[in-house]
Amino acid sequence: MTQPGSSMISVEEARERILSFFHRLDPEPKPLLEALGQVLAEDVAAPFDIPPLDNTAMDGYAVRFADTTGATEESPRELRVVADLAAGYILETAIEPGEAVRIMTGAPMPPGSDAVVPFEETDEPMRAVGQAPTRGGTVRVFKGAEKGANIRYRAEDVRAGTVVIPTGRLMRASEIGVLASMGVSSVSVYRRPVVAILSTGDEVTEPGQPLLPGRIYDANAHSVAALVKSFGGIPRLLGIAKDTVEDLTAKIRQGLDADMLVTSAGVSRGDFDVVKDVLAREGAIDFWTVRMKPGKPLAFGAFNAPDGRKVPHLGLPGNPVSSMVSFELFGRPAVFQMLGRDDWQRPLVRAITRDRVVNTDGRRFFARCIVTRGEDGQLYADLTGPQGSGILTSMSSANALTVIPESLPEALPGDEIEVMMLD
Ligand code: AMP
Ligand code: MG
Repeated sequence: MTQPGSSMISVEEARERILSFFHRLDPEPKPLLEALGQVLAEDVAAPFDIPPLDNTAMDGYAVRFADTTGATEESPRELRVVADLAAGYILETAIEPGEAVRIMTGAPMPPGSDAVVPFEETDEPMRAVGQAPTRGGTVRVFKGAEKGANIRYRAEDVRAGTVVIPTGRLMRASEIGVLASMGVSSVSVYRRPVVAILSTGDEVTEPGQPLLPGRIYDANAHSVAALVKSFGGIPRLLGIAKDTVEDLTAKIRQGLDADMLVTSAGVSRGDFDVVKDVLAREGAIDFWTVRMKPGKPLAFGAFNAPDGRKVPHLGLPGNPVSSMVSFELFGRPAVFQMLGRDDWQRPLVRAITRDRVVNTDGRRFFARCIVTRGEDGQLYADLTGPQGSGILTSMSSANALTVIPESLPEALPGDEIEVMMLD
């Protein structure tokens, strides 16, 4: 354990220390659609060939290609139509020379046929509606078909037994579609983390309650819960703890069945911040000053749960912007890690700042900004206005954060800077 303020660490160092406490959670079975956004915990192999049978890629006529060789509009080949086959049905009898089967996209190729002539290359479009050749009629073919034309062959997509979606893959709409196409209706995925969230401070009031003079509403629990949800976790609100040892201890204990506990406020050097003492008593805790702005103070540790587990604890600063930015930088990777995802890094892009950005205190500056594409195709960044760490509306209008390095005291209008996209 270190004393408050005794160490100044970089964002990367803080993140690495935090991530070393988190691991992928256990797998759970989930109905296919509910697994959206979770990570597959098993290899899923194709139970059969896809497609399972040779079938037609076009509406047309299944033929023996040799019967059409040399056909032109001037000298068409006339074939006897022996069946009309829709998708979902199978023809058991083989077609003989001179015969054709009228066939719809997806229908399995009739035995004996080896090509499909699309309707457009026959006389079918010349006929009146409802006058298509039926069984016993004839069709005229205007163009010779190559062997195999317009056939989708059995197993051309996937051969039975091949792993189609491997363990570790994020379940997106396309994975769900592919698995459904193989008849899969439930999958094993890594569990979503439950994140218990506690606000602290005598002044903090639950929205919906009357606001007494000098008090403020609880922004942090709600913004952080929303972030947890958007990162793929399950937020659990523990409410607001007064700045007393008893209340804090009681509320923290209510959160110890979660996978992670997040508190806000009480980690800076305020006179009434008892959070630190309680944290230290209930587990192990480190207080860091992270070389970043907003959000310098950060606590990280682990509580001892009654069942013997160590529950990682992230102590966010109280200022609402600091709290959100800190959870974005440290909470997001933790939630992703528990989900089994390693793609927590937001897109970093270069943009031209249209504002002067001053950064004289040697910290990395995550200023709130709006990034838009100019008519010249370039990305531009505009600050959202005053950047105080209590001004939460600056976060609401932003779609990105600047990433001004610790060593850069100033960026001038027209300078290219790095920005981290949030949406
Ligand atoms: P502290 O970290 O306790 O010194 O708090 C820093 C600032 O954040 C103070 O102005 C607090 O009133 C404010 N604050 C603390 N908790 C919250 C919260 N849950 N929602 C909004 N502001 C808060
Ligand atoms: Mg406080």
